[in-house]
Amino acid sequence: MYDKTNIFAKIIRGEIPAKKVYEDDNVLAFHDISPACPVHILVIPKGEYESFDDFAAQASADDIAYFFKTVQQIANQQNLQHEGYRILSNHGSNAGQTVPHFHLHILAGKKIAGLVPTE
Ligand code: AMP
Repeated sequence: MYDKTNIFAKIIRGEIPAKKVYEDDNVLAFHDISPACPVHILVIPKGEYESFDDFAAQASADDIAYFFKTVQQIANQQNLQHEGYRILSNHGSNAGQTVPHFHLHILAGKKIAGLVPTE
């Protein structure tokens, strides 16, 4: 059951602020409040999806394609495509998901040594 009180739902509704880098009718992107890299952007669909698993299972093929196309456009708007970036999403407790609204992290701005960022 989607929790409408989660922090990203509040950001979508404009109830709490975020440093937005992109917004349209379906997708919102903003800077992570606790960046793990010099560039750390979160991209979320505005629809009510708890996690990657929920989004992939429930969203339409068009909405999924639109979301990932938009992620690529946001990365390019930030001029990240040349030096590179990492995208990741945590689903569930083992992965460490802390906000129950599907989000994709874009990490960039330095060389990321291991598979899992440590800082
Ligand atoms: P995850 O651990 O994959 O669920 O990622 C949640 C991310 O949301 C973390 O990197 C947090 O730093 C970030 N976060 C939590 N609250 C906010 C907020 N109000 N604005 C921006 N980012 C946030």
